[in-house]
Amino acid sequence: MSQVIDVAKNLINRRSVTPEDAGCQEYMKDWLSESGFSHETMVFEDTTNLWSRRGTQAPVFCFAGHTDVVPSGPEDAWQTPPFEATEKAGYLHGRGAADMKGSLAAMMVATRRFVADYSTHKGSIAYLITSDEEGPFINGTTRVIDTLEARNEKITWCLVGEPSSTKQVGDIVKNGRRGSLTGDLTIKGVQGHVAYPHLAKNPVHDAAPALAELSQTHWDNGNASFPPTSFQISNIHAGTGAGNVIPGTCQVCFNFRFSTEVTDNQLIERVITILDKHGLDYDIKWTFNGQPFLTDKGDLVEATQHAICEATGYETQLSTAGGTSDGRFIAPTGAQVIELGPVNATIHKVDECVKMADLDMLANIYYGILVRLLT
Ligand SMILES: [Zn+2]
Repeated sequence: MSQVIDVAKNLINRRSVTPEDAGCQEYMKDWLSESGFSHETMVFEDTTNLWSRRGTQAPVFCFAGHTDVVPSGPEDAWQTPPFEATEKAGYLHGRGAADMKGSLAAMMVATRRFVADYSTHKGSIAYLITSDEEGPFINGTTRVIDTLEARNEKITWCLVGEPSSTKQVGDIVKNGRRGSLTGDLTIKGVQGHVAYPHLAKNPVHDAAPALAELSQTHWDNGNASFPPTSFQISNIHAGTGAGNVIPGTCQVCFNFRFSTEVTDNQLIERVITILDKHGLDYDIKWTFNGQPFLTDKGDLVEATQHAICEATGYETQLSTAGGTSDGRFIAPTGAQVIELGPVNATIHKVDECVKMADLDMLANIYYGILVRLLT
C-alpha cells in the first residue's frame, strides 16, 4: 500500500470531530520525530494545537492544517462507516479524506522523503496544526500565531492544505481570500395600528430606501486578483404576523465579501453614512470575520506553479474565490500564504472521499515545492 494512504487511514480512523483531536497530533508527532522535528503542543481551552519545527534557521517553510473534521451526520446514510477509512474503486472513503486528513498525510510523507534526500537542507520546515478549524476558530491557528508573534518567530512561506482543487488535483491554487464582514442592523420605529399610521412609525418604510441604496452601491472595482466587493442582504425580519399591526422594529442582516481595494473600516463608514443620510433610528452590530489577503507573486507561488506542472504536466490556476480559511490569520504576519490540497467535490458531505492516486500526486507536488524552496 502507498505510504500516503496508510498515513491517511491512520488519521481518518480517529474520530476527531471539532474540537476533538482524538490523538491525530500525537500520531503526527511520532511520525515527524523520526525526521528530527521538535514539538510544542499548545492547548487553549478545548483546542489542541501543534507547532513542530525542524531546524532553527530562516527561511521557514510551514505546512498548516487541521486535524478536526465536521460531524458525519447520520452514519447509516454513509455507504462505508465514516470513521473507518475504506478503499473503494480507487477512492479512499471516510470523514476527513479530502478535508483535510489526506493533505496531512501527503505533507507528512513528502516531508519524510525530503528530509531523507536533503538532510542538510537550508532554513526550517514547520507544521502548524489545529483541532479547531471547522469550529469557532477562536483557540486554534489565531492563538498559535499570537504565541509565535510574541516571541518573534516568523513563517516565511505557508502552505495550507485545504482542498483547493476542483476537477483534478492541483488545477487550482488559492493565493488569497476575500475579507468577510457581517452587519446586524435593527431599525427602530413605533408599533401601532395600520389604520392610524400617524400614531406609529413604520421601520420597514424607513428601511426600504436605505436598503435599496446599499444594495445598489458600487463599493469598488475589484482588481486583477479579486472580483468587486459584494454586499448581500441575507435576512430581513419585521412584523408580528398580524396584517393590521405596524411593526416596532425591522431587523436586517447583511454581509460583505470584500477585496483588497477597501478595508473593513471604510465599509463600515460608508454604511453608516448611508443610514444616517436616510435619517434612520437604528442600532448596528458588526462581526468581523477576517481581512482579505493576497500572495500575489513571489517564490512560494512560483515554486508551487512549477512543482504542480512538473508532477502533473498541466498548468495550475490562481484563485481567490471561496469562503474564508485559516490563511487569514497567518498572512497578516507577513508570510506568503497559499492553499493547495485535493479535489473538494465531497467535502463536508456524506460519503466524503478522495482519489487515492491524487494523494500520492499531492505528496509529489509538496515534495517538489520543498525542493525548490529549501535546497
Ligand atoms: Zn478544511
